[in-house]
This record gives sequence, structure tokens and C-alpha cells, in this order.
Amino acid sequence: MTDYNSKDLMEMEHKYGAHNYHPLEVVISKAEGIWVENPEGKRYIDMLSAYSAVNQGHRHPAIIKALKDQADTLTLTSRAFFNDKWPVFAKKLAEVTGKEMILPMNTGAEAVETAIKTMRKWGYQVKGVEKDKAEIIVFEENFHGRTTTIVSFSTDPTAYENYGPFTPGFKIVPYNDLEAVQQAVNKNTVGIMVEPIQGEAGVIVPDDGYLDGLAEIAKKNNLLLAADEIQTGFCRTGKLFAYMYDNIEPDIIIMGKALGGGVFPVSAVAANEDILGVFKPGSHGSTFGGNPLGCAVAIASIDVLLDENLADRSMELGNYFMEQLRNLNSDKIELVRGKGLLIGVVLKKSAGKARIYTTALKEKGLLCKETHDWIIRFAPPLIIKKEDIDFAMERIRDVLG
Ligand SMILES: *Cc1c(COP(=O)(O)O)cnc(C)c1O
Repeated sequence: MTDYNSKDLMEMEHKYGAHNYHPLEVVISKAEGIWVENPEGKRYIDMLSAYSAVNQGHRHPAIIKALKDQADTLTLTSRAFFNDKWPVFAKKLAEVTGKEMILPMNTGAEAVETAIKTMRKWGYQVKGVEKDKAEIIVFEENFHGRTTTIVSFSTDPTAYENYGPFTPGFKIVPYNDLEAVQQAVNKNTVGIMVEPIQGEAGVIVPDDGYLDGLAEIAKKNNLLLAADEIQTGFCRTGKLFAYMYDNIEPDIIIMGKALGGGVFPVSAVAANEDILGVFKPGSHGSTFGGNPLGCAVAIASIDVLLDENLADRSMELGNYFMEQLRNLNSDKIELVRGKGLLIGVVLKKSAGKARIYTTALKEKGLLCKETHDWIIRFAPPLIIKKEDIDFAMERIRDVLG
């Protein structure tokens, strides 16, 4: 129990915390599995999973055990020395991704920055692009993180306004439009960076075969294809990685969020040696990247996903959940879209703002977050059961039916 009640805490945060978020009015002080609880003891189902960072459920026992055991043994060495966990994590993630090498970082944005650096360095050293001319193709409505370079190619004014001057070298084209990508390629293009499903944009699912098309363009023009799987990866969409719906192998896989099992920030980039081999000692790094505590947590987090077969569960329950949502036949819902347990409910303009509904759902014990003004995202921990979805649907029916 904390010493403060929910109201005190929200006021305190408002007074002392910078206002760079607009949280739903609920304070969480405890969690287990799919359930979270406020200081007054009211329980809610978590339908957001910290933007897919808690795919394994809150405080999964195997992940917490790994965290505690490692905390009692060794936490941080920096990469100035070897440690006994990073190599084991690297080997495991290489096997899981089918790539030869891993570069570890902490947050998603750092992994994206790493992928950008990789594509550029590869462009200069391997492809032979003229110095400082490298271009990377990215997509409208993308979300890749919050660093100055990453917001330089955001198309969302709230994300980029007043943060200039911006990093050049990015070409922004419409999502789900292969012709536009083909047109954007020139002799300086080094890579394409894509979200297999655009999560933050509102769970935008491209046409079947879109990634195949991107891979083909990349291959034909000697470009690297980087898949940002930070949100879609680790079973969220019903496959281990969302790119697996297409018949491709991205050159670079960018991972974060659920890699840390909801307890510790761990991110990484996976690629083969001919690509990640561009990094030489000193050319990139992170004090905390590859730290033993994070590595132990990440190893356990991957094991849970595989041992509990959370990809299949996500696929099965996601299909069930989407079917139930569609069966609401609600006059407030324009459409339900998604893959696995990454689901976007797009509201009709006449229904009013999504925030009205996320607030009403919160009152009924379901925590979801709106993305934009008219989309509600449902992305519960993947350990959710069919009965839990039925329980949630009763509440959703009351609010949206
Ligand atoms: C969350 C997210 C990021 C950024 O991750 P952080 O850990 O918040 O820096 C990047 N790409 C995608 C697709 C994301 O969903």
C-alpha cells in the first residue's frame, strides 16, 4: 500500500511531473497477470500492456525470478568487460531471429537509431554511397520513437513541432503504396524502415504481400530492409514477428518493448554479419546495453513467449476478440482491424471522441488507451484467457454496444 490515495498522486504528478503525457485518470499501484489495481483496491484488466511491453503479463513469475536471481549476482559491468549473460542472450536472440549477430541497447528509440546508423554505415562502406548522401525510405504516419533524429521523419506535428533543425536523409512516402517506394529509390538510397503494422498510427494493417513487395524492391535495388518489430514483435500479432505473415526475411530486425518482459528496458537489433559487421570497437555503444540484469530478464522473457506458445494464443484469441467486437454491430464502430491481439477499433465520426469511451471503459474496469481521437486500441497481455475476453466484452458491450 502506498501512503497516498489516487487523487493525491494524480495531483502530485500534475504539479511536479512534466506534462508530456495525458494519462487516463487511474493510478496503478499493483499488478499481476492481466490485472492491475489502484491504491484503493479497485481492479482493472489491462488492455494496453504498456504499448505491448507486457506481452507476458505483469510480473510473470519466471521473469521476476530471473530478475531477482540476477540482481543477487551481478547487475552491470559495462561493455568494457565481458559478462556471463550478454553472450548467452545474444546467442538466444540470434537463434530466435535467425540472424548471425545482435547489437543490444535499452530503449526502442535507441534500437531504431542503431538500425539507422547500421544502414548508413553499410551504405557508405559496402554499397559505396557518396559521403553524407545516404537516404532511408520511411513512411507517413510512422512511429519509431522520440529522439531528435527519429522525430525528424515523423509526419505527426505533435511529435516534431519546434524540435528542429531536423536530421536530413529520410524520404517519407505513403504507407501501403509500393509504387511510391519504387519511385523514391535513387542511387543514394541505403534502406527502407517499416513497421509491419503501424501501431501508433491506429493499428494500420497493410495489404497482404506488402512486405513481400518491399523486400523485392530492396533486393532489386541493393537496399537494406529494416522491420521495426518493437511493438508488433514477440507474438503480439499472432506470429513471433509480424513480418512472418509475409514470405520475407528482413535484413534488420528492430526489437524492444516485450523483450524486457515488462520489467526492464531491453532493446536490440538483429542482422547478419555482412551488415552488423560494419560496427568496429568504439563506433557505437551504450553503457547499459547488454547489462547482465537486462540480459537475464530478456532470456526469461523470450523463454516465456516460446514455452507458453503465446504466438498461437495471440492468434486464436485475437481472432475471437475481433469477431466478438465485430458482432457488436455497434452504430458507434466504423471498423475493427488488427492481427492477433493487436486490435484497433475505429469509431464513427458521429460517435464522438475515443477518450469518452476509454474513460467509460475505465469506470467499468477495463484500461485501454485511445490513439488519435477516434481509435481505441485493445492489446491485452497475451496470457489472457477466453473467459477474460468474455468478461471484457460484457463491459465493452455496455459502453460501445
Ligand atoms: C514504442 C515504439 C518505439 C520506441 O520505443 P521506446 O522504447 O519508447 O523508445 C519504436 N518503434 C515502435 C514501432 C514502437 O511501437
